Amino acid sequence: MSGVVIVGGGLAGQRCAETLRRSGYRDPIVMVCGEPHLPYDRPPLSKDLLFDGAAEESLSFRSPVWYEEKAVELRLGVPAVGLDTFERRVHLGDGSCVAYEHLLIATGARPRRIPTFEGYENVTTLRTREDACGLGAALVPGTRLLVIGAGFIGQEVASAARKAGVQTTIIEAASAPLESVLGSELGGWFADLHRANGAKLLLEHRVAAVHGDRRADAVTLDDGRMVHCDHVLVGVGVEPDLRWLGSSALGRPIADRSGVRTDADGRTDIAGIYAAGDAAAAFDPLLERHVLGNHWESAGRQGSRAARAMLGLEQGPRGVSSFWSDLYGTRVQYLGHASLADEVNVDGDPQACEFTATFTMRERPVAVLLVGRSQMLPRARELLSAATEMAFA
Ligand SMILES: Cc1cc2nc3c(=O)[nH]c(=O)nc-3n(C[C@H](O)[C@H](O)[C@H](O)COP(=O)(O)OP(=O)(O)OC[C@H]3O[C@@H](n4cnc5c(N)ncnc54)[C@H](O)[C@@H]3O)c2cc1C
Repeated sequence: MSGVVIVGGGLAGQRCAETLRRSGYRDPIVMVCGEPHLPYDRPPLSKDLLFDGAAEESLSFRSPVWYEEKAVELRLGVPAVGLDTFERRVHLGDGSCVAYEHLLIATGARPRRIPTFEGYENVTTLRTREDACGLGAALVPGTRLLVIGAGFIGQEVASAARKAGVQTTIIEAASAPLESVLGSELGGWFADLHRANGAKLLLEHRVAAVHGDRRADAVTLDDGRMVHCDHVLVGVGVEPDLRWLGSSALGRPIADRSGVRTDADGRTDIAGIYAAGDAAAAFDPLLERHVLGNHWESAGRQGSRAARAMLGLEQGPRGVSSFWSDLYGTRVQYLGHASLADEVNVDGDPQACEFTATFTMRERPVAVLLVGRSQMLPRARELLSAATEMAFA
């Protein structure tokens, strides 16, 4: 039998390789990376790195020496193009194939696109190093940036752009940023934060038409208003990148864009095949359904757990799912599942960007939002872990 093949050189794949070697696994590990770079981290791409190309090298999780020493074979710039679950082989874009005993699907996600914006050279999304370099170069002081979507990526780019003196307008269909996750009151806090920092927010609006020839010069909104722009960032979420699975047995989930379904430890229904990170929809016992991670913490955790599952090792507690963001110099941290809540209590001073929002369901804490209160992260984790344990007791 021929070892572990990891398809995807992001955080999930990297943590899987690290956990395997740390746990004493000695058989071959091959990482198939579609991008031509060493496996690298994405969060800095929408933050400082957007305007600091020099820091790019610091994105790599490990140096080339680490991969040599740990005998992790990297196939850089070679995408997987097919999977034969019967022969246990992954077909690669260069015509070769690699056999596996265990396979990790960790191909992440790709940005959703909006058909109206297709074909314009100044309309971009943000997922890769190249995307960040292109976007950073386009954002010189005085440029008019249009951000479509007030999710975390759109908001982080708006924050970085304002810091660089870019005129920034965010267009969002909901009545507040992150409203569907945090509710309208807390979403309103995010809206105020952008306005206080000079970004313009056009809420409850959609783009009806794009004007321009090769470049998008302006958009018309659904109320007939026209907004001029020099660059457009489309930040309307992501979907699992599973195109390479094609018509293999696991290709089925592509149709509904719901990710590769796994148990809480990354196992799929097919023996020897695991999935982790943004490509996976892992079963969440608390929510009692499969959920896409789409966060850094879940990608790392799932990659490690999949490695332990491959080796038949015991798993530790799942921990609390979490996400962080940096906006205008303020750290925002979110833990748990606010969607379960029937009440939210805010403690602190939202105006001073320093508060905690605790979400409860029948008085049991289910989520916490920390703004400017990083020091309270361990306490928030404890609170939610204890509440989760009680729920399963
Ligand atoms: C700009 C940006 C900022 C972010 N900021 C935050 C943040 O502040 N906080 C947070 O919690 N999360 C953040 N995230 C989300 C977090 O980075 C992701 O959840 C995480 O990177 C997912 O890791 P992954 O390994 O599943 O996928 P990825 O990191 O996407 O890695 C998947 C890799 O697989 C490769 N691949 C795809 N198809 C193939 C193929 N067929 N063959 C071979 N390789 C393939 C891709 O090119 C990619 O390199 C951010 C994401 C982005 C893009």
